Parts: sequence; C-alpha cells; structure tokens
Amino acid sequence: MFIGHFAAGMAAKQVKPTLSLGTLFLAAQFLDLLWPTLLLLGIEHVIISPGISNMTPLDFVDYPISHSLLVVVIWSLLFGVGYFLFTKNRTGALVLGGLVLSHWVLDLIVHIPDLPLYPGESPKVRLGLWNSPFFTILIEGVIFVVGLGLYLHIKNKKNEPVTWKFWSLVAFLVLIYVINFIGPPPPDVQMIALAGQLQWLFVLWGWWADKQRTI
Ligand SMILES: [Zn+2]
Repeated sequence: MFIGHFAAGMAAKQVKPTLSLGTLFLAAQFLDLLWPTLLLLGIEHVIISPGISNMTPLDFVDYPISHSLLVVVIWSLLFGVGYFLFTKNRTGALVLGGLVLSHWVLDLIVHIPDLPLYPGESPKVRLGLWNSPFFTILIEGVIFVVGLGLYLHIKNKKNEPVTWKFWSLVAFLVLIYVINFIGPPPPDVQMIALAGQLQWLFVLWGWWADKQRTI
C-alpha cells in the first residue's frame, strides 16, 4: 500500500481541519518512514525476490519494529500522547494516533503473509490483495479518490484555496505509485532504504502545499 496511506492522511483533514497535511502524512506514513532507517541500520531486513507477489518483488522477512501490530500500537500511543503533551489538543492527538495505526490496517489489506502481530516468533497475517494487481489498484485507487474527495470537500467548506502546490503533490504521488508498479525491481536493499528516505519529501510537500493564509 502506498497512495492509500496518503489518502488516509488527506481524509483525516475532515476530522481535524487545523492539522497540516504534512503532519497528517507524517502520522499516516510513519511506519514506512521509520522502515528505511531500520533497514540502513541493519535492524530490519527485506529480501528482493521477484515473483513473491504480483505487486511487489519485496519479501518483508523481518520488520517487527516498524510493522508488528503490538509495536505499531505502541508507536500510535507514543505519537498521540506526544502530540497531546506538546499541544494539549485531544482531537488532534486522537486523529494522529489513529492514523499511525491505520497504516497497519491498510497494509493488512494488501500484504501477503508477512505482517507479524508481535516481535519474535509471531504468526504472520495478511488479506493478500497483492496477489491480484487488478484488485490492488482498484481498491487503492478507490481509497485514494475518496481521501482526495474528503480533503477537497473540507478545503472548499472552509473557503481555503487548493493550489498547484497540492495538485503537483497529488500528481507526483500517483507517478511514484505507477513507477513502483511498472518499474524494474530495485538492485539492492541499500537502494530500497535510500529511496525510502525520499518519502520525507512528501511530508515536507504536504506542509508546503497545505499552508493556510491567515487573514
Ligand atoms: Zn507499511
């Protein structure tokens, strides 16, 4: 799942419009922002195995800190509580904590059996949509359009402009999604980890695109 996570961030704007899109992206994509660094540090591991599923050549053999349900719940609590301590904003904290958790739930829909429930010898769970490219793109596409629609709806309601900065972000997200799908498998794990760091760009882009002009 890729653009679906960003769609969750956009959709959450509906619940808490004052949260910047960058902050919402940070929460929704937090686990995948953490993962490349854990790969670089050699703490988590992935194997490039073309054909492992029809959507991705990556075999997520070991990622208990970024993607096991138990640790994800802890990340979600830390994110929410941390935000609350800094801002005293309860709704914002709930939205952001919920978004961190939503990442695992959305991943569950598409991943093949590789998502652990807890670190160690855990059963691996999945719903396995990645075995069908058609349904993966269909479901993720629908999630993306719904998230985008909810974002545009709230911006419209608040009379806030949606500029080319936002539309260029949307176009770039879709482009990266397509490249991921049709492009060749990555040459090595180092490359995956370095390319993964580029996702921070979307967080910054979200902040930039969603800046509100106050009157
Ligand atoms: Zn993920």
